[in-house]
Amino acid sequence: MEVEEVVVLEMESAIARPARPGRSGASWRTFKPVLLLEKCTKCYMCWKFCPDMAIDIEEEGWPWINYELCKGCGICVTECRPEAMLLVREELG
Ligand code: SF4
Ligand code: SF4
Repeated sequence: MEVEEVVVLEMESAIARPARPGRSGASWRTFKPVLLLEKCTKCYMCWKFCPDMAIDIEEEGWPWINYELCKGCGICVTECRPEAMLLVREELG
């Protein structure tokens, strides 16, 4: 896995839309999903199945992970058939 590429795409997603203020975070999360835009087909299965409504669709139709809401359950990764999502370990400290 090209880790640097994953981090760059995650950052691009993070600046696509601001986090919603006042919603609970997930400080205990040990893994988090990251999106590989080049594999995404905009099928929105991740959006449909996320139990925490942590995935939004940005203006150009790309899914966007709201890490303020994401609990790291991995369901979006499981449901993403094009394998455009990966679970990566949260950085500690
Ligand atoms: S399920 Fe995968 S391919 Fe479909 S919109 Fe989400 S990230 Fe993209
Ligand atoms: S890991 Fe779980 S909570 Fe986070 S975006 Fe995916 S389905 Fe939603």
